Amino acid sequence: MRVVQQHPQSNSFVRNGGKMSFSAQRFVHPGRLNQLPCNYNTWAKGRTKLCRRCAKNENETQSHILQVCDYSIGNIIKERHDAVLYKFRELIKRGSKGHWLERTDRTVPNTGSQLKPDLYLESPDGKHVILADVTVPYERGIEGMQKAWNEKINKYTDGYKEIFRRQGKSLVVLPLVVGSLGTWWKPTEESLIKLGVGKTTIRRIIPETCGMVAEYSKNCYWRHIYGEKYVKTPMINGGKKPEGNDWTKCEKGIEVPKVAN
Ligand SMILES: [Zn+2]
Repeated sequence: MRVVQQHPQSNSFVRNGGKMSFSAQRFVHPGRLNQLPCNYNTWAKGRTKLCRRCAKNENETQSHILQVCDYSIGNIIKERHDAVLYKFRELIKRGSKGHWLERTDRTVPNTGSQLKPDLYLESPDGKHVILADVTVPYERGIEGMQKAWNEKINKYTDGYKEIFRRQGKSLVVLPLVVGSLGTWWKPTEESLIKLGVGKTTIRRIIPETCGMVAEYSKNCYWRHIYGEKYVKTPMINGGKKPEGNDWTKCEKGIEVPKVAN
């Protein structure tokens, strides 16, 4: 909950209904209190605490289900990441650094590095490079969010700083972090501003981005519990929202287009 308190806007759906479906709200609140039913959260004697779905032999904790379980990592967990990336990428395209945007989810050319930052921007004069990377970590307190943030900075700074320095380019690494239980991580705002997105736009997209992530995580959780019987709520991405505030009114979800250049 401390993560929620550091940025009250991620809790704005509580006050005004916001951009989060009721089913997602019913998922998020017990989730933030670590009270979602799962094998690890049961105290019944003799019951296994291991994951029911994958062969990783790990405890079925909330974070296992939402972040690393093999049952979801190749589908909903990846889709959740890609939806956030797609949304931010569209904002950047329309912002003041739109013409800097080079590549998405590829290796950076002429560097020899195998790291694939989600977003690679280069100034028209070729002197400044920005690498941005999206992550949707489990909300293990402020420390957990900060750790996810630092890991991104270290990974891309270690991987690229020296290479770009030799090429005479400055490098800025900007993490874009949204908690998987739908909590906004405030420093992400600074990253978006440095990526050329306007403050008003950022304020507008915070609740809908958090709502979108919560929706994916809710689907991830219930599909884990119920298996393929669980029918996903249609998803809306890319800045579009359903009529009114009701996600369920939308009959057909909008596909997240394959992000490609
Ligand atoms: Zn698992």
